Amino acid sequence: MLNDTQMIEVLHQHRVRPSIHRLAVLDYVANRRTHPTADEVFSTIAVDFPTVSRTTVYNSLHTLVEAGVLRELDIESTSTRYDLALQLPHSHFRCSCCGKIFDMQLPAGLENIVMPGFKVDATNLFFAGLCPECASKSTDN
Ligand SMILES: [Zn+2]
Ligand SMILES: [Zn+2]
Repeated sequence: MLNDTQMIEVLHQHRVRPSIHRLAVLDYVANRRTHPTADEVFSTIAVDFPTVSRTTVYNSLHTLVEAGVLRELDIESTSTRYDLALQLPHSHFRCSCCGKIFDMQLPAGLENIVMPGFKVDATNLFFAGLCPECASKSTDN
């Protein structure tokens, strides 16, 4: 969780001017931890900022990704999802029933499978299946 002061500090560290919309975007992605799509970010922020345009939200997301504060997750072919970049590397689990995305640890020793001489910039590992809630529903049937 990042409070307002920490978020402003993070933006300063990454040389991003902390506009009110960028803070709202960062707050939503960093603190809700739902790995939202751009559309989800927009519709939520539009509740608090009725005058905000879709373009402003999309531009804010783009700026934060470019600055390395957020990262894009290509888990689904249909939409890009956003995650806080400033956290330990982790993998994701996507529930094929409810569509929620959960953080998972990376398996230990993952670095050992990279062949010598290769320099890793990013690791994207994701699992698909049913979350506990959906799994229990499907066995109830
Ligand atoms: Zn589910
Ligand atoms: Zn994540």
